[in-house]
Amino acid sequence: MTTRFSGTGGRVTHLHGHHVGPPPSFDKVEGSDFTLEADLVLLAMGFLHCEQPLLEQFGVDRDPRNNVASIGHATSVPGVFTAGDAHRGQSLIVWGIAEGRQAARAADRYLDGLEGEGEDLIGALIAG
Ligand SMILES: Cc1cc2nc3c(=O)[nH]c(=O)nc-3n(C[C@H](O)[C@H](O)[C@H](O)COP(=O)(O)OP(=O)(O)OC[C@H]3O[C@@H](n4cnc5c(N)ncnc54)[C@H](O)[C@@H]3O)c2cc1C
Repeated sequence: MTTRFSGTGGRVTHLHGHHVGPPPSFDKVEGSDFTLEADLVLLAMGFLHCEQPLLEQFGVDRDPRNNVASIGHATSVPGVFTAGDAHRGQSLIVWGIAEGRQAARAADRYLDGLEGEGEDLIGALIAG
C-alpha cells in the first residue's frame, strides 16, 4: 500500500509504502516498509465517488461513500434530484438510463406539488 510520495523541486522521485494483510482491515505488515524509485506516478484507483465541487455548491448530503444521498431520487435539497452513478456509485449504463427516467418522474411529481409554481418555473425555463 502506498503511503506517500517524495521528491525534489516539485518532481516525484520516490514512492513509499508497506505491505498489508487481507481485507477488510488491510492491516500493515510490520517491517514491510519499502521505497521505490519513481519519476511518473499514475493513479489507477477505480471509481471512488462522483466529483464533489458541484455537490458542495448544491449543498446536498453525501452517503458514507461520498455519493449523493437520496430517497426516491430526491436529494436532501428540495428540487435537486439524482440518478445513475452519482448516487449509486460506479454501476451500469442500464441503471443510468432507467434511473434518469425515474428521476425525471420524481422531478415531475415535485413540480406538480408546487401548486402552480411548477408551471411558472417550467415557463421560465422554456422562455430561457
Ligand atoms: C471505463 C469504463 C467502462 C465502463 N464500461 C461499462 C460497460 O461495459 N457496460 C456498462 O453498462 N457500463 C459501463 N460503465 C459504467 C457506465 O459508463 C456508467 O454506469 C454510466 O455512464 C453512468 O451514467 P450516468 O448518467 O449516471 O453518469 P455519466 O455517464 O458519468 O454522466 C455524467 C455526466 O455529467 C457530466 N458532468 C459532471 N459534472 C458536471 C458539471 N459540474 N456540470 C455539467 N456536467 C457535469 C459529465 O461530463 C458526464 O457527461 C463503464 C464506466 C467506465 C468508466
